[in-house]
Amino acid sequence: MGITENFQRIDREIPGNVKIIVVTKTRGINDILPIYNYGHKQFGENKVQEILSKQPSLPPDIEWHFIGHLQSNKVRYLAPFIHLVHSIDSLKLLMEVDKEGIKNNRIIRCLLQFHIASEETKFGLDLSEARSILDAEEYKKMNHIRIAGVMGMATNTDDHSLIRSEFRTLRNYFNILKNDYFSGNDEFYEISMGMSSDFHIAIEEGATLVRIGSAIFTP
Ligand SMILES: *Cc1c(COP(=O)(O)O)cnc(C)c1O
Repeated sequence: MGITENFQRIDREIPGNVKIIVVTKTRGINDILPIYNYGHKQFGENKVQEILSKQPSLPPDIEWHFIGHLQSNKVRYLAPFIHLVHSIDSLKLLMEVDKEGIKNNRIIRCLLQFHIASEETKFGLDLSEARSILDAEEYKKMNHIRIAGVMGMATNTDDHSLIRSEFRTLRNYFNILKNDYFSGNDEFYEISMGMSSDFHIAIEEGATLVRIGSAIFTP
């Protein structure tokens, strides 16, 4: 099956309240355009260099999501156009996004990335680290970022019950933060979880954004 057929099949499987971020890392413009031309506008990349090499050659109404680890010194390259930064994992990084938001005269939407996998290599916060960010005086002064929800990656495993419990943990963190920091705030609602191998489980556990690459681009 072709790329567009793969995308259509997955799109049909997914409930209307869940958005697909088509992850285009390692794929070229010619792989991306058919999905755009079909009417899809949400795409994601995990490397700054790579998103910068594609974004100018693609239509300006694409909503670009940054899903990879982000270094503070690279925020300025994304700030003019990024739709959502999924990978906030420190106060320092959030401060940098706010600073670049000011320079670009925009409010940049962000997700707090949590470490939910049992693997040690993945980036992300735990709940107490997230609380320290949201309690910080520096955070309270920020006017050019908006925390729109949470993001996480499950362990890369065939053990579905482990994956499910990790997604459930992320959903639980979302509920706790919503209750303690964002109650009455309509703009905190995103749960970004689920990739090609585990998006069905993620949706059952409450994902609002799924990030799918290989299931679309692998024939
Ligand atoms: C690559 C990547 C994905 C998509 O993974 P697939 O298995 O290709 O669907 C999702 N999230 C992040 C953070 C990624 O780096």
